[in-house]
Parts: sequence; structure tokens; C-alpha cells
Amino acid sequence: MRATSASIERVSDLPPDEPRLRILRTFLDQEATRHEVVATYLRLQLGEVDAALSAAEAARTEPFRLVPMRTPPGRAELHRADCWVPGGRPLSREDALLAREDRQVASILDLCSACRPQDLLPE
Ligand SMILES: [Zn+2]
Repeated sequence: MRATSASIERVSDLPPDEPRLRILRTFLDQEATRHEVVATYLRLQLGEVDAALSAAEAARTEPFRLVPMRTPPGRAELHRADCWVPGGRPLSREDALLAREDRQVASILDLCSACRPQDLLPE
């Protein structure tokens, strides 16, 4: 007898005895669990891709981040949005330009030496 997905759906193709029905049930339960694990893994991957996509979209509209410095207090450091230094709040290109042009703000603003945000701004 050839088992196809169409023929196995019919109840008459199922074995009549309890041992084989239990084996079939165990197999189907394991397959369902395996697919649930795969689906859970894929949903986790989907979440990570969505987070990276959101970060990429934010970096396009707000390409900088302003991170307050602990020491010395009252200063802040400007980073590119994709800099490895964590924290801070997103900052638009226009706000970054204003911060650099304003002498008072510029006097408390440091530029990250790792990501060099000044390379994205005009001199
Ligand atoms: Zn940086």
C-alpha cells in the first residue's frame, strides 16, 4: 500500500491495533513538537531582524546619538548611530550640526574617537 498525504488522512488507512496507533500518535506528536520548536526559533529570528530593521531605519533619519558622560559630569559625547558605544538618545543630522555650531554646546560636546561622527558632518 502506498501512503500519500491524501490517503493517510482517511481513517480507514490507520492501523486497527493499539500498539501501532500509539506509535503513530507518538510520531505525530514528536513531529508537531519539532515544528513548534522550529517555528519558535524562526519567530525569534524574525524579532531580531525586526529590531535590526528598526535600528537601520532610525539610523537613516537620526544618524547620531548623544551619550551623556559620567566623568566629567555635564559633558556629552556625540556618536554615529551605529557606534559600538551603547546608550544615549538618537539625534538628527540637523541637531548634530546645530550642536557643533553653537559655541556653548560645542564646549561641552566631545566627539567619539572610535566612530568619528565628524566625518559625517561638514567642517
Ligand atoms: Zn562612537
